Amino acid sequence: MNTSIEHISIEKVQQSRLSEVDFDNLTFGNTFTDHMFVCDYKDGVWQDAKIVPYGPLTISPAAKVFHYGQAVFEGMKAYKDDAGDVFLFRPEENFERINKSSKRMAIPEFPKEIFFEALHKLINLDKDWVQGGDGNSLYIRPFVMATQVGVSASPSDEYKFMILCCPVKAYYTGDVRVVIAQEFSRSADGGVGAAKAAGNYGAQFYPTNLAREKGFQQVVWTDSNEHKYLEEAGTMNVFFRIGDKLITAPTSDRILDGVTRKSVLALAERAGIPVEVRKLAVTELLEAAKNGSLKEIFGSGTAAVISPVSAFSYDETVYDIEKQSDSYAARFKKELKEIQYNIQEDPFGWRYPVVTH
Ligand SMILES: *Cc1c(COP(=O)(O)O)cnc(C)c1O
Repeated sequence: MNTSIEHISIEKVQQSRLSEVDFDNLTFGNTFTDHMFVCDYKDGVWQDAKIVPYGPLTISPAAKVFHYGQAVFEGMKAYKDDAGDVFLFRPEENFERINKSSKRMAIPEFPKEIFFEALHKLINLDKDWVQGGDGNSLYIRPFVMATQVGVSASPSDEYKFMILCCPVKAYYTGDVRVVIAQEFSRSADGGVGAAKAAGNYGAQFYPTNLAREKGFQQVVWTDSNEHKYLEEAGTMNVFFRIGDKLITAPTSDRILDGVTRKSVLALAERAGIPVEVRKLAVTELLEAAKNGSLKEIFGSGTAAVISPVSAFSYDETVYDIEKQSDSYAARFKKELKEIQYNIQEDPFGWRYPVVTH
């Protein structure tokens, strides 16, 4: 890993596409900024780190990523405050996690200096694409893929590490209705559920489509052994409020260690909310729904931040969840937002300035 940060070369666009973008009508993840970061792994070294105009790649159809799905990714966001400064939210966590994911997928780890220098340079170059104001942010997608040519089933010896950026609006999901999984699984013991492996998402699409056909948006995943314990909601971690207690599953090799989840736990602790990080059985949830002590379910993840669930289905029975006037979901969403947009103090040190005046 001897690529030094001074070697990130920059090729700027001839003409920015910024003026063509309708920021009021963005579809999540469909609009990309002018530039992207690319770095290649060859001969055992990450090299040729560069920022270039966003655009298509030329890759052999025999590249291993297309055949064996050897690919991982991250999702993070940059937020602009009223003074025009831009902050990332806990980017160290994403850096560590992409390398953890890479390790699980037999992908070489990426050097920290290049990762952060790339983020600084890329976001500064495209800073006008970061819109201020409630809900607006820049979604940042680092990812790694196996580019070695050849369809032999073995780890690639060449990779591309890239970073793309998308301006996004608040990820409005509306009321999320979920189905509790009784047949399909997202991840298994000893599997890749704790990694942000590309294929984890691909594998979720089919069961999620089945849920959609029934009028639900997401699947709440349960343990793959018995479908007895609640684990994640779609591509988010999941929280339950029973009485005044906040309950979420412990991370494991089936459950992804979300940055938003971690942050919600810290905020709950600060607020003196009783928290239980433990397995929650479906039977306990049903019991709580029936006796009225189930007050909230919400998902947590970078894209939607906090996503309240309005109903869940189990054994074809639908259980509605009433809105709470003292909603934990609303409280955490607000507190996170105030830290992310530099509106409130940041006692946890979560904000990471990238563009400063
Ligand atoms: C990315 C992801 C999350 C959320 O993680 P954040 O760091 O909060 O964005 C939760 N579950 C799964 C399966 C994920 O892939």
